[in-house]
Amino acid sequence: MFREVKVKSVLNKLKSHDDWFLVDYTVNPFMGCALNCTYCYIHGSKYGGEDTSVLQVKTNAPEVLYKQLKNRTRKGEYGFIGLGSSTDPYPPIEKELEITRELLKIIYRFKFPVNVNTKSTLILRDMELYRKIDENAVLPRRFQGKMDHGVIVSFSFSTVDPVLAGIFEPGASTVEERLVTTQKFSDEGFLVGANLMPLLPFLTDTEEHLDEMIGKMKEHGAEFVLVAGLTLFGDEPSDCKVRYYDTLEKHYPEVLPETRKLFGNSFAPSRKYQHDLAKLSEKLALKHNIRTRILTNNLE
Ligand code: SF4
Repeated sequence: MFREVKVKSVLNKLKSHDDWFLVDYTVNPFMGCALNCTYCYIHGSKYGGEDTSVLQVKTNAPEVLYKQLKNRTRKGEYGFIGLGSSTDPYPPIEKELEITRELLKIIYRFKFPVNVNTKSTLILRDMELYRKIDENAVLPRRFQGKMDHGVIVSFSFSTVDPVLAGIFEPGASTVEERLVTTQKFSDEGFLVGANLMPLLPFLTDTEEHLDEMIGKMKEHGAEFVLVAGLTLFGDEPSDCKVRYYDTLEKHYPEVLPETRKLFGNSFAPSRKYQHDLAKLSEKLALKHNIRTRILTNNLE
């Protein structure tokens, strides 16, 4: 089920470039997300209380993007476009509608580079388009001569445990399918990595589980891992804090009190938790010989 919406703009220019994902722009073909991860903050009041229960498809996004990229091209304002920063660009309906595919054709036409982030194997359908973008995109000046890819392919995982994934990411492709897809893009020579986020406190943020996750990413051709913890917002039934706690209560009641304590009235765990998680991920990335940034050096 989906609803059509018409938009005036689809290319969002960031105030400053994102040092983490290396993007200057974001494009989201949809509002809301059909993958419906329990921990996701796009459902609920953080996004202005908009009704995200029904996927909204920006049906005029291709013609709007065409105009916007034409304008940016004229000014030479090239930059990586983050595709799917607040929605997954490959929900099941994309198979039929091909909105993301149309956007990619326009991105290719204007030679913009892309960082695509997904939890769906449907991305395989567009591999040849990504290859053309990868080979032809004009890189922003700060990356010229420092990287040789116009596409960054990122797969998201909050866990590699299939049971946990089924509970917390019910609409995503299975962990195994995502790993196999990671491998396929890597085998085809793309710059591929994994966004290990959000790690779920007391479930997937343990040293043992993160070690397994990073090991599997390396094994399947990922060149980098970006690791981040969970954030939880709101107190309405559709808010992720409420939905996440309800899910814990149902499936993992033993970790609910600790999780509540970790967050308290905040949207994020303490600085110490975040510092310890960053240290742990650096240690494990070193062990598995994998980067914790998209590129080797900080080029910013
Ligand atoms: S796939 Fe991403 S955007 Fe979609 S519900 Fe899951 S976390 Fe949110």
